[in-house]
Amino acid sequence: MAIISCPGCGKKVSDKAATCDHCGFMLGAHDSESLARKSRLQRSQQLSRLVSQQMLAILLFIAGIGAFFYDWGTTGMGPWIPYIGGVLAAISFIWYLITRGRIYILKKQR
Ligand SMILES: [Zn+2]
Repeated sequence: MAIISCPGCGKKVSDKAATCDHCGFMLGAHDSESLARKSRLQRSQQLSRLVSQQMLAILLFIAGIGAFFYDWGTTGMGPWIPYIGGVLAAISFIWYLITRGRIYILKKQR
């Protein structure tokens, strides 16, 4: 018996189950090879989504750091931009760490 990801909802189900416990997807209607292919495809799509999220987080982090150190002047929004940049850098750094962790977990799964 093996544990696979349900093609319907992505949750873990036994490959011997006729229907998914979580969403009722008819697993029996598909042979195990097409199920494995589907879950592989789903995983590589999720992985590439996470990788582009990670890239975006790095870009936002760099932009935030840049805004933090740049001299925006003392008029209008000028004095506030470094604070916004700092907050942006902090948020994107946390986002980056979360995305990294999710990529790590995804790669560890078989
Ligand atoms: Zn399901």
